Amino acid sequence: MKVCKFGGTSMATVASIRQVQSIIESDPMRKFIIVSAPGKRFSEDTKITDMLYAAYAEKLENGSCRYKIAEIRTRFVELAKELGLSVDMNKYIDEVEKGINESTTADYAASRGEYLSAVIMSEVLGFKMLDAADVIKFKADGTFDSELTNDLVSKYAKESGGIVVPGFYGRMPDKTIKTFTRGGSDFTGAIIARGVGATVYENWTDVNGFMVTDPRLVNNPKHIEVLSYEELRELSYMGASVLHPDSIFPVQIDKIPINIRNTFNPEMPGTLILDNTDGYKIPKVTGIAGRKGNTTISLKKAMMNAEIGFCRKVLSVLERHGMSVEHVPTGIDTMSIVLSDAGLKGVDENKIVDDIRGAVNPDHIEITHSLALIAVVGHGMANSRGVAATLFTALYKAGVNVRMIDQGSSELNIIVGVEEKDYNASIKAIYNAFFD
Ligand code: ADP
Ligand code: ASP
Ligand code: MG
Repeated sequence: MKVCKFGGTSMATVASIRQVQSIIESDPMRKFIIVSAPGKRFSEDTKITDMLYAAYAEKLENGSCRYKIAEIRTRFVELAKELGLSVDMNKYIDEVEKGINESTTADYAASRGEYLSAVIMSEVLGFKMLDAADVIKFKADGTFDSELTNDLVSKYAKESGGIVVPGFYGRMPDKTIKTFTRGGSDFTGAIIARGVGATVYENWTDVNGFMVTDPRLVNNPKHIEVLSYEELRELSYMGASVLHPDSIFPVQIDKIPINIRNTFNPEMPGTLILDNTDGYKIPKVTGIAGRKGNTTISLKKAMMNAEIGFCRKVLSVLERHGMSVEHVPTGIDTMSIVLSDAGLKGVDENKIVDDIRGAVNPDHIEITHSLALIAVVGHGMANSRGVAATLFTALYKAGVNVRMIDQGSSELNIIVGVEEKDYNASIKAIYNAFFD
């Protein structure tokens, strides 16, 4: 049986919802449907999830979310009406308004887009709705409880009819709602796929599958037919936003294939993501992804390599500040620590620098902002010569100054750091060097 997740654009309009319906009804194996909140209907539009975060912000500021909820109400009421549904969306929105006004975190508000989307989709399909809060569970420390969740989800494996599950959230032991990170409906789909023992996890979105690089940066990049879980993890963690980077964890346990498909072009086979891609033609480089918004702390100290415990002392400072570290490229007498700006939010970076000074007394320490990271990923790299040469020649020819280099120990990726202003040009240059 197939588990199918439909993303925000697939749930945004009457036409897209009808398209989703026809995809599901064309294959009786498509029994478990996970939905995102309605996304943008046109490029200047606002996603429902963003409107819900704004509603919570309004309630914090004014004590009620009256104005934002009115806009959200219009979207859902119109959608249900145009779909010809008899469900009373006003009743649901009243409940959501009350819930947002009473809640103390943004999670409840943010989760309601998926909830309301599932109400609509279950009406359209005549499928049962299963609230994610009843099966997707977190532990008291806020981490996802995968085994309890799997036990609860597996009880639905033998249901005779179809089931719609809202993506993106679950429930804490204290009964409050908690969301995953943005894009987390992909993760919900993977959790359900594992729990019910799906033969395939179909992830339906608005592109023909995974492309070698971000189609917003390179015009019409090549399509990837197949990639491995590991490659997907590297590419999505590094910025290829097609699929949430955690999505592979539930499905890799039972090696369930993921198939990225296009709701608006369902004849296309899409991209297959497998545990093992042996037997397929493996290119030198599978994909290129990147993201802006990183900061590096660079240290220099003579004889650093001989100083036992140097790295540990530096990393303990970051641990004390609650920082997770993205990369730690090192030289003989140098060490850099790459941090994401999102993680640095609300943290005093000068205090980190002072504490590192106190801990290891470096000859020089410097902090650099606006670093973009770019990952060139592929299993094929391990067995082919010249990948690094092609990469650095391309960046050199494009006039890009490389600020950092890091190669993962599995030879699955090479990561380079460039200034944010050079990001787009770098992605294009690397793409052209390997794929043109
Ligand atoms: P959904 O709402 O269906 O979850 P997302 O917006 O999260 O969809 O992900 C799909 C989008 O990811 C595409 O529209 C595309 O702009 C973007 N994207 C970024 N990198 C890639 C890539 N390498 N291949 C395909 N799409 C990509
Ligand atoms: N609606 C949520 C978001 O916008 C989750 C998702 O779409 O996967 O991040
Ligand atoms: Mg998404």
